[in-house]
Amino acid sequence: MTVRVRYAPSPTGLQHIGSVRTALFNYLFARAHAGVFVLRIEDTDRDRYSADALQDIYDTFDWLGFRWDEGPDCGGEFGPYIQSERAEHYTRYAQHLVDAGHAYYAYDTQEELAAQREAADGRGGYDRRFRDMSEADLAPYRDRGIDPVIRFKSPMDGTTTLTDIVLGSMSWENTDLPADPILVKSDGMPTYHLANVVDDHLMEITHILRAQEWIPSAPLHLQLYDRFGWTPPQYCHLPMVVGEDGQKLSKRHGATRVLEFRERGYLPEAIINYLARVGWSYDDKRELFTLTELESLFAAEKISKSPAVFDYQKLDWLNGHYIREATDERLFDALLPYLRSSAATTGVGDDAVADTLRAAVPLVRERLKTLGEIGEAIGFAFSRPDGFDITEMVPKKLSAAETVALVEKVVPLLDGIAERSDEENEALFRETAERLDTKLGNLLMPLRIAVTGSRVSPPLFGSIRLVGTDETQARVTRALDRLRAYSATNP
Ligand code: GLU
Repeated sequence: MTVRVRYAPSPTGLQHIGSVRTALFNYLFARAHAGVFVLRIEDTDRDRYSADALQDIYDTFDWLGFRWDEGPDCGGEFGPYIQSERAEHYTRYAQHLVDAGHAYYAYDTQEELAAQREAADGRGGYDRRFRDMSEADLAPYRDRGIDPVIRFKSPMDGTTTLTDIVLGSMSWENTDLPADPILVKSDGMPTYHLANVVDDHLMEITHILRAQEWIPSAPLHLQLYDRFGWTPPQYCHLPMVVGEDGQKLSKRHGATRVLEFRERGYLPEAIINYLARVGWSYDDKRELFTLTELESLFAAEKISKSPAVFDYQKLDWLNGHYIREATDERLFDALLPYLRSSAATTGVGDDAVADTLRAAVPLVRERLKTLGEIGEAIGFAFSRPDGFDITEMVPKKLSAAETVALVEKVVPLLDGIAERSDEENEALFRETAERLDTKLGNLLMPLRIAVTGSRVSPPLFGSIRLVGTDETQARVTRALDRLRAYSATNP
């Protein structure tokens, strides 16, 4: 039997961490079993349908770079893969259930339903009044001019048991479940439950990996499979993704929309590696996985039962790892759009931005946690950092006047500095520091601030090379003037 799994998003909201984790686990499960991964768009809720949400599905997975084998865009033998194009199936199967006595037409008015809800203490009770009505009794209701719904005859005694790959066995008293839920709405559209079950059957889905929030739907789905006489797929409910406070992950916890992580400068391989570990582990130790490795290592038995906490720090760490691992070319391509759109390069020509970035890639790769940090990291290469606090230039334990004297000794070393190798520059500065009987840092730190405006910058000589010898000299001269003025009043 070929393993067939599906990701079945409803285009009502944007792709978030939890939904993409579900898609990823389905994809990995399919690959690990040499199976098939299907994308099915569940768009029967026309009130909440959003074209942007649909586009977001395609954009998100284009970016992440893993794909379905069958779906609306690539086809497949079980299509169409968009529920709104499959209406005939749902009507036909709903009618099967009616004909077999497992479902029935109900003619309640909205007012009657509201009154029943009230009578049931707001528990959403339904009094099943049309369930077993004779044809003769139904006749007057048919003439009411109401578009009926089709309701499922849910069992009124007994239990329903779900066997879940991760969670084991769970049982419900049927009397605790909603009474006779709607399968087809009065506009003729199926509810999620009917469409989902019919499609999983027709598409020959063997395993359902979906979030635990769908567990309450499972007993009804199992009852539907039973009434249709179909074998249900195997269920595998995935743990919730929560914030550090244990609450369901939401905007409040930071970014949750997956494409927002792209905007912030995360690499798709970091997101994939991160999401694979949200509720799944290989062993207790290993953190790093490429998509290809996951495709063979993924095993449903290792999915955890308990909620998975979304850890932004770990995501940053992984992103830094994949940035360090990327080739120069890949990193250049990945960084360029961020640098171009950064305030640091406003008014700078495209070629100049690209040339500077090409030279900067080896300098920044060890330091960046996100691609979005590039503007700040090398912004000094595009404009003079004039705004820094001049006292920053004064090393601990030195006075402003002593610093002026040291920087004056640095000035002659700047001749040709951008043209020399790092080793040559280091040797030169080291000798000078020894000669002046001071620490090397007392020469380098003021120079770093004069050139980059910050104590934290990419490696100093590399940064100077980005800026060029002339501009470095100009910046040091300027900083020295400011420092002398400061020292005059603060000796
Ligand atoms: N359309 C449902 C969703 O939006 C699918 C749930 C399921 O996988 O059964 O998540």
